[in-house]
This record gives sequence, C-alpha cells and structure tokens, in this order.
Amino acid sequence: MAYEYDDQNIFAKILRREIPNDTVMETDYTLAFRDIIPQAPEHILVIPKGFYVNHDHFAADATDAEVLDFTRVIGAITHAIGATPSTGGSGYRLIANTGNDGVQDVQHLHFHILSGRRLGRMLQPV
Ligand code: AMP
Repeated sequence: MAYEYDDQNIFAKILRREIPNDTVMETDYTLAFRDIIPQAPEHILVIPKGFYVNHDHFAADATDAEVLDFTRVIGAITHAIGATPSTGGSGYRLIANTGNDGVQDVQHLHFHILSGRRLGRMLQPV
C-alpha cells in the first residue's frame, strides 16, 4: 500500500514556516529543531524536508542526496551537542516511532535525538 502524505501535519506546517520552531541545524534537505516537550536535556527532532511519512517511506523513495544529508545531519548534531562516545560524550538515543504500534503521533518522518542524562532501558522485556 502506497503512503499518503497529509500536508496538514504539524511538521509540514513548520517546514512551510506557518508555525515557529527552534532550529538547531538546517540544510537543503533536512531540518533539525528542538522538541517542544523535551524528555531529556537535549531533545532534538530531525526531519527531511521531503514529504515522507516514516522511515520505510523515506528509505524506499528518497534520493541518495536526501538520505545522505539526513544521516550526516544526525551525526553532526550528536557531535555538536558533545554526545558522541568517540569524542568523550556520554552517548545518546535515536528513536523513530513508526505507525500505530510505534505510537507515531506526527505523520512526517522524524528521528528523536535524546541526550544529556542516563535514559534508562528503552523497553521492558515482554
Ligand atoms: P512522535 O510521537 O514520535 O510522533 O513524536 C512527535 C514529537 O513532536 C513529540 O515529542 C512532540 O513533543 C513533538 N512536537 C509536536 N509539536 C511540536 C512543535 N510544534 N515543535 C516541536 N516539537 C513538536
């Protein structure tokens, strides 16, 4: 089943500058901004500027340039906030909630970058 992108989702409105955002990094293909309800000292959302519902959609349909840029921006941010273990950082977590079971609220692909405190185990064993 093909994905249908709803251009009324909140991140589409952010991309159209209809509502404000606290930008962390922006490139031709990618926008990163602070989550409005942070769940860690650093809580940043990274979204492609293209209209992709989730990572599955992005992986299938995005151009190589979009995929490369999106991945590099996430890497650049984790470095910029001092979270990468290779530079002495304490680490971080990437989350991409997807679909119903993944409890995805906003239907535009986004990765959460969470850092700045010990985050605990992600899930309890079944
Ligand atoms: P998810 O449940 O993975 O779809 O996450 C959606 C995230 O978007 C939540 O963490 C919200 O706090 C965040 N969010 C919703 N509206 C805004 C907004 N206007 N600016 C920044 N973050 C937002």
